[in-house]
Amino acid sequence: MEGTLTARDKVGVQDFVLLDAHTSEAAFVDNLRKRFKENLIYTYIGTLLVSVNPYQELGIYTVSQMELYQGVNFFELPPHVYALADNAYRMMCSELNNHFILISGESGAGKTEASKKILQYYAVTCPMTESLQVARDRLLLSNPVLEAFGNAKTLRNDNSSRFGKYMDIQFDLQGIPVGGHIISYLIEKSRVVYQNQGERNFHIFYQLLAGGEADHLASLGLERDPQLYKYLSQGHCAKESSLNDKNEWKTVSNAFSVIDFTEADLENLFGIIASVLHLGNICFQEDDQGCATVPDTHEIKWIAKVICPLTPDLSAYARDAMAKAVYGRTFTWLVNKINCSLVNKDDTKKTVIGLLDIYGFEVFDKNGFEQFCINYCNEKLQQLLIERTLKAEQAEYEMEGIEWEPIQYFNNKIICDLVEERHKGIISILDEECIRPGPATDVSFLEKLEDRVGRHAHFQTRKLAGPKGQKRIGWSEFQLLHYAGEVTYCTKGFLEKNNDLLYRHLKEVLCRSDNSILRECFLVAELESRRRPPTVGTQFKNSLSSLLEILISKEPSYIRCIKPNATKEPSKFDDFLIRHQIKYLGLMEHLRVRRAGFAYRRKYEHFLQRYKSLCPDTWPHWHGPPGEGVERLVTYIGYGPEEYKLGKTKIFIRFPRTLFATEDAFEF
Ligand code: ATP
Ligand code: MG
Repeated sequence: MEGTLTARDKVGVQDFVLLDAHTSEAAFVDNLRKRFKENLIYTYIGTLLVSVNPYQELGIYTVSQMELYQGVNFFELPPHVYALADNAYRMMCSELNNHFILISGESGAGKTEASKKILQYYAVTCPMTESLQVARDRLLLSNPVLEAFGNAKTLRNDNSSRFGKYMDIQFDLQGIPVGGHIISYLIEKSRVVYQNQGERNFHIFYQLLAGGEADHLASLGLERDPQLYKYLSQGHCAKESSLNDKNEWKTVSNAFSVIDFTEADLENLFGIIASVLHLGNICFQEDDQGCATVPDTHEIKWIAKVICPLTPDLSAYARDAMAKAVYGRTFTWLVNKINCSLVNKDDTKKTVIGLLDIYGFEVFDKNGFEQFCINYCNEKLQQLLIERTLKAEQAEYEMEGIEWEPIQYFNNKIICDLVEERHKGIISILDEECIRPGPATDVSFLEKLEDRVGRHAHFQTRKLAGPKGQKRIGWSEFQLLHYAGEVTYCTKGFLEKNNDLLYRHLKEVLCRSDNSILRECFLVAELESRRRPPTVGTQFKNSLSSLLEILISKEPSYIRCIKPNATKEPSKFDDFLIRHQIKYLGLMEHLRVRRAGFAYRRKYEHFLQRYKSLCPDTWPHWHGPPGEGVERLVTYIGYGPEEYKLGKTKIFIRFPRTLFATEDAFEF
């Protein structure tokens, strides 16, 4: 009727698959916008969940909402992160297999919030025994601790995770959460010593100063005012009003007691946090020989001795390298310690749901080694998606002899190879440059890249025109054409960050520290070893390859988070920004595959076994070939020809609603 809006016009459709065929990107954005305006932040593409950060509390995460979604068919209720969590859980319980939920999106899009909602959902809805409550609480409380040490305020997000996180939640065969395991990836150590304007260091420093007891601070030689510490005040926003450091300190302290940290652990841990702050305040002056001296030794008494015949610049560099190494390794220690408390010692069979909250694709004005690693990680995860959905799906149709429209998709293996291939890839070339004798520089690295990679459809070096006679000016950039778009990386700092060296005598000091955490982090064996430790790039490559191994054996669910605007405001929907994310999250591609594909498939025998009672020909027994039995059955119950296809061994059903109707008929 003219003049009246149908519900569909007003709130859009809850599954993009239901939009008209050949959906354009504009129609996609339109649907998302309609829903966002109605505070409907979740939309499906088949079983993939798209989530738009509302930047406001919507009251949709209550216990009664959790109960509503518990045990209900995926498509029966409006889209929700609880529906996805519940679906993975129920499949795990019924099929006794392992799952993972991959949450991706750019900084501030809501990944960490989504992972917390899922964890809370399991904590509330899963069965529980009294003796296993501790395991559940520890799983929940590992979050505030890791966030305190691994998150920071950035320009994009007041609580930005500066590390990648994979968390396994282990369930026993009754579906009770009994333990867990966390793996962290590439914590951004450089933040310990430097923060951009408007950004902060990791939360824990400010929390300790704001919330620590006066005696405690005095024993650590600390003052309450963060402005007094160089490592906390460079970003000029030490006191960020949106963060309540004092309250958070209470939460974190309480969490520590539940996760089983001893007094001694905490004393050592905060001893380290304090010494990093003292370390940052050490200044160096030049003496007659050009060597560094420390004019004010006040700070030194709080930390180990630093005496070295270096220039003031090199001394400052060594100081910062030490602070970064100490913080980085302490973070790893913390993750291990939390893992010890999450271990479930009984060795009965368990199934797991893994949650992956990992940095999204990043393109800034200036992109360095960190962006290179992060984008490489996204490239690998995209590979996984391609392998698991696009390729596997199409291979199955072919095997079953099902007619389907081939989907054009870009296989990004070529880019993964470009980065990671042994001997030929960018990481290998960087490593070679890091270990070769003679002066290697960020420029010589680039020259080597140019030589070795040469012409490649996804790679080029950029030579910016410099003044005559200085032909190498501007030779410090290379471009990668990622699946998500083109990114220009500046090679400045690549060698240093990849090497991540710490002066040997500083390591010696740390190995002999009174602080037992430091002794665990800096092992004497490392000093004595003649083998060079793997570079940061290679370590990251290896840890990604183990992650992919972990994921490939599990059933996937995907959440794609979208950030609606750059100003962290509620109700503001920035079309330009959102289109960009739709593109690099690969959502249109995913929709095309979903449309062309079939939501559900099952072996003839299983299908027949479950539904044979619905048709007199197949009930109580069907003696012919199972495929024919299924054909009789679905014809009898009235499946339309567009709703299903029959393959060699399986029936393929296009829409979930068809199957739900069958399930309903079967139940009554
Ligand atoms: P980063 O990559 O920087 O870690 P992220 O994707 O993990 O970013 P979050 O920290 O989850 O982003 O979200 C940023 C902020 O957005 C949250 O602190 C919260 O204020 C808001 N937010 C995110 N999701 C929701 C939600 N579902 N409901 C209400 N607010 C949300
Ligand atoms: Mg996060």
